[in-house]
Amino acid sequence: MLGPPKESQDYFLKDLERCELCEHKCRVNRVGGETGVCRVTIPTIASATLHPAPPESYTVFMAGCNYKCLNCQNWTISQYPDNRSRQRGYEDPKELAKECVDQLNSLTAKVMGADRIFFSGGEPTIHLPYIEKVVEEARKIKPDTKINFDTNGYMTEESLKRVLDFTTSITYDLKAYNDDVHVALTGASSEPVLRNAEYIGRHAKDKLWEYRILVIPRINESEIKPLTELIADIDPSLPVCFLAFRPNFALENHPGASRSLMNKCVDIAKGSGLKNAYWSGHTGVKGRVVNIKSQVKERYLSEGARLAASYALYAGCQTHPRGCSTCVSNQACEIKKYIPKIVT
Ligand code: SF4
Ligand code: SF4
Repeated sequence: MLGPPKESQDYFLKDLERCELCEHKCRVNRVGGETGVCRVTIPTIASATLHPAPPESYTVFMAGCNYKCLNCQNWTISQYPDNRSRQRGYEDPKELAKECVDQLNSLTAKVMGADRIFFSGGEPTIHLPYIEKVVEEARKIKPDTKINFDTNGYMTEESLKRVLDFTTSITYDLKAYNDDVHVALTGASSEPVLRNAEYIGRHAKDKLWEYRILVIPRINESEIKPLTELIADIDPSLPVCFLAFRPNFALENHPGASRSLMNKCVDIAKGSGLKNAYWSGHTGVKGRVVNIKSQVKERYLSEGARLAASYALYAGCQTHPRGCSTCVSNQACEIKKYIPKIVT
């Protein structure tokens, strides 16, 4: 893959020579070819397309992620560079900015109602200086260009402030309140994610499009109450969208969320005091739940975490409790190489 010419790397050198963009704080020299938990060196685009899901947009999917979620719907993008999928690679920020603005000016975009560039992934935070540059270039062409930043929230406070400086809206994923379940599902702690969610709810409410909570039967069902209580405590008017899990990636055989479970989540949210909770997604996909493995039983506190950890073990993660920052296998992680047989 072709990288950027040396003279045009200045804008990302400072961040990537000792990378602390996210809470893994790997401090590796990505420009020099070292890799941290995300395993990404230079900024890499997976794909880009006009996208009808709200907020309607020209969506740029950035390759790679700092999580290793068992449930990932976009695993061909997020598990870059360890899977076999094709990516667009590095592109000049000016050229990508022009492409985005042109696409948003197209007739198709107008009909769709697409009005912003939506950075998604994978996790866009790991490419933050690149995205800042694309936004700068896009706003040179069209000063009122709107931006959405779609994130798992596992970023430093410094990175969050940088994101809030340029973004128009933010879509923010919450996966679990308790560290136990969060770690088992993603390989990373929930603490920074909850801290950043609270910061946005208290100090940047106008930029929050919605918090998004993927509901995975039996794994994070018990997380809905503490998550919605946390959000209601910040501000009962904050928007929360529950997304119905459907089998994916290392959870390819796990049952999807049912309609009744999704309605129950909205009821729990209302019971917590939230005024703006709703759900979306395809429900009722059949599956079967694996047996909890004896090797993980003592390593996790809750049944949901034990179940997630059992799936992780089946898919090749031998480190329990999971903790990708300190895991000795994080540069040869079997989860990142996992190829599901079923794709929904
Ligand atoms: S995981 Fe986070 S801190 Fe580590 S190299 Fe990737 S972006 Fe940087
Ligand atoms: S093997 Fe290590 S790096 Fe891979 S998911 Fe498990 S804890 Fe994380």
